[in-house]
Amino acid sequence: MCPQADGSDAANGVTNGANGHANGNAANGGDHPGYKAFNTHQASRPQVSTNPYAPVQDFLSNVSNFKIIESTLREGEQFANAFFDTETKIKIAKALDEFGVDYIELTSPAASEQSRKDCEAIAKLGLKAKTLTHVRCNMSDAKLAVETGVDGVDVVIGTSSHLMEHSHGKDMTYIKNTAIEVIEYVKSQGREIRFSSEDSFRSNLVDLLTIYSAVDKIGVNRVGVADTVGCATPRQVYDLVRTLRGVVSCDIETHFHNDTGCAIANAYCALEAGATHIDTSVIGIGERNGITPLGGLMARMIVADRDYVKSKYNLAKLKEVEDLVAEAVEINVPFNNPITGFCAFTHKAGIHAKAILNNPSTYEIINPTDFGMSRYVHFASRLTGWNAIKSRAEQLSLDFTDAQVKAVTIKIKALADVRPLAIDDADSIIRTFHYNLTADKEKPLIELSNDEKKLWAKKEMELNGVGEKRELENTADAQAEVPHAKKTRTADVH
Ligand SMILES: [Zn+2]
Repeated sequence: MCPQADGSDAANGVTNGANGHANGNAANGGDHPGYKAFNTHQASRPQVSTNPYAPVQDFLSNVSNFKIIESTLREGEQFANAFFDTETKIKIAKALDEFGVDYIELTSPAASEQSRKDCEAIAKLGLKAKTLTHVRCNMSDAKLAVETGVDGVDVVIGTSSHLMEHSHGKDMTYIKNTAIEVIEYVKSQGREIRFSSEDSFRSNLVDLLTIYSAVDKIGVNRVGVADTVGCATPRQVYDLVRTLRGVVSCDIETHFHNDTGCAIANAYCALEAGATHIDTSVIGIGERNGITPLGGLMARMIVADRDYVKSKYNLAKLKEVEDLVAEAVEINVPFNNPITGFCAFTHKAGIHAKAILNNPSTYEIINPTDFGMSRYVHFASRLTGWNAIKSRAEQLSLDFTDAQVKAVTIKIKALADVRPLAIDDADSIIRTFHYNLTADKEKPLIELSNDEKKLWAKKEMELNGVGEKRELENTADAQAEVPHAKKTRTADVH
């Protein structure tokens, strides 16, 4: 916690911190320099409602009924920085299970002796999530997988001309015959079985549909579509999955790499086209720059169907799971990460702050409290506005008229031009300004170095023309007027 100018913040329950760079859980209070967690009244969020007049193709959509195959312990192990020992794998598996993912996919037991032992150890944990391991489509790998005790086996084989020529060198007839043998074996052992092609979007469509149709007929649980190289666009994904939906009756799993930044959009389009399962990893870690991130997918899906997502997943655990994995692979959660990035719910511009204080859904599509996160309004900057400062003054229990708040806001904005302001600086300016209103002798608003004093003297000269500037600001505020939530429920629907 940062030092306060006096003890009143603690007494008022204000919880600014000075040393954090990641968003804090709501329970931990705010922890940004220069930011403040605000409790604003929470309006209801836009919802997708059941519409009897929805277009026919929406009946394909599984946006409100999907399953997550969490692959941090398989795809994620292919991330450049990943090295998971057994203890770390178990911790991650338990955290993912508490979050509520449907499946946990594990590295192939054929990869190494330790990988085989880790598979067995995690299969024995008795998790609610089903355990899967991901192996090549051949009998020896399939037998090894079944022996580990996992609930299901994910087999994969390359079907693109690139892979048939440069990787395994097998033709489609060989692939089909082997797939049938492996699937029948795994089924005979009472386990789930998925058959996936690799590099599906650069495979021959007729080859793909032929083999998927063949494995569907012998009772495979899922077929998998994988954008192994991250080349697919949402429209291509929709077309392929929709076509496949018409060919097979089993579930459809999809796996999207993020080379061109489309991994979340592609996952969403796949669900719209009738896919049933999405592969994810925590923070998206995986081969190269990874796959659809679990948190990013949750952000996308909660906007589509909040009730489904909230009822199924323990969303308040997301930050904990991400922190656990980030630490294990020695990376920071990216600043622009959906939901948990340090500025995901931070509002800075004065006009935004005003609207957010009135009704958060004006500038927020996701409710941070759904994920146990806090909203921040950045008020210690040159972009601040008088509504944010007024709200802060109220938290500090200082009485101001609106005209006085506007006057101190002008000072804060001008001082923020002279030097960067920390949250404590803005608080002390507000307090000193308040003290000066009734004091015989005015105190300086803030300590400044000699150079800063020179700059400030110039600024104060400029502020003499402030009447005119304030006029302009009042006009801007009036133009940005946002109706109060109570008065306009319709403001939620957009
Ligand atoms: Zn992959």
